[in-house]
Order: sequence, then C-alpha cells, then structure tokens
Amino acid sequence: STFQDLGLNDDLLQAITDLGFTKPSEVQEKAIPILLDSETDLVALAQTGTGKTAAFGFPMLQKIDIDSRTTQGLILSPTRELCLQITNEMKQYGKYCKGLNVVAIYGGSSITDQAREVKRGAQIIVATPGRMKDMISRRLVDISKIQYSVLDEADEMLNMGFKEDITDILSHTPDDKNTWLFSATMPREVAAIAKNFMYSPEEITV
Ligand code: AMP
Repeated sequence: STFQDLGLNDDLLQAITDLGFTKPSEVQEKAIPILLDSETDLVALAQTGTGKTAAFGFPMLQKIDIDSRTTQGLILSPTRELCLQITNEMKQYGKYCKGLNVVAIYGGSSITDQAREVKRGAQIIVATPGRMKDMISRRLVDISKIQYSVLDEADEMLNMGFKEDITDILSHTPDDKNTWLFSATMPREVAAIAKNFMYSPEEITV
C-alpha cells in the first residue's frame, strides 16, 4: 500500500515526499489505519528502526487541532537523545502543518527555557518522564487536555525506573484520552501498564 492509501492528509503526504519515504514500513501499515480510523488504545510490539516514530507521529499530527494552542499530544520516551530525535522527526513530519509547535522537555537543560517554549503554545510535547513530572509539579505545563499519549520504548522506561513517574504523569491527563504504547519487548511490567492504563487496546506485532 501507499501512504495515501493509509488515509494521510496532503500536508503529511507532502512532507513524506520531501523525506523520500517511498512506502510505509510494516508497523506504519498496521498502526496508521487503526489510529486514524478509531479512537482506540494501542499496544504495538516494535523494535527501533522499524519506523515506529512515524507510525504514531503521523496519526497524532493528523488528529490534533493545530489551530488550537492547547497541548493535545504527549510522547514519553526514556532518554534525552530519543526525546530530541522524536522531536526532530515530528517537526519534519509536520513541516507543512502551519502553526504546529512541538516542544521537547528533558533533564539536564534549562527548565526555564523549556517552560517558556511550552508557554508559547505547544500542541505536542515530547518528554522524558523525570523532567515532565517536575514541570507538572511546578505547574509549568498543563496536560489536562491531552487526547493522545504515547509511551515509547515502554520496556526501556520501566527498566530505567520510570514507572512511578509515568503513573504520576498519566494521572494528570484525562481518562478519556487514547494511549498508544510501543515496546520492543513485552515483559510482565509492560503488560501491567497496558492493563492498568489502557482500555481494550488494539494489538499489533511487527
Ligand atoms: P524509527 O524506528 O522511528 O526510529 O525510524 C527509523 C528511521 O527510518 C528514521 O530515520 C526514519 O526517518 C526512517 N523512516 C521511517 N519511516 C520510513 C519509511 N516509510 N521509509 C523510509 N524510511 C523511513
């Protein structure tokens, strides 16, 4: 199939052409139609390098209201490097989504600067759990209107001891949001997150 077949809009298709992506990867082919067509939770077993960022990124970019400055999408990832990489990819994928603001929130860098960026209006925040929790507790960020949350590399985040931070962060998001969990492996702890925080998720494996 083509990206057009998957139901992506012209702004995204143009960005995809610019990036030189000729056809969807397997995880994109499986995840994108599900996420575009329904308001559902998703558990996806997928390694890095499979194109999973675009698998959740394209649907998120298409579904949020870019005319609003409210934070609607939250992507949690285990490390600063991954956080910056995802932010960069989301900006590229959304380069024709006029007015889009994607902000990265991670430790080891000025919290004041990050708070200022958020305040300008970020439809999408990409964050590491520790700094995100810190910013929530200091009321520097409002995630009460989140509609789509992604737990990327969920197994890694749990390995790194972020379970409580994730739980705390998700408790500040609406119950009726959708959660999309991506993980390379499905140990008991990840299955427990899916069970506790998600409602009858669709499941895909690549
Ligand atoms: P990820 O698994 O999201 O880290 O993506 C791995 C790399 O594959 C990134 O550099 C993407 O830019 C690239 N990529 C994602 N989707 C496609 C695609 N459909 N065709 C070619 N490259 C892609």
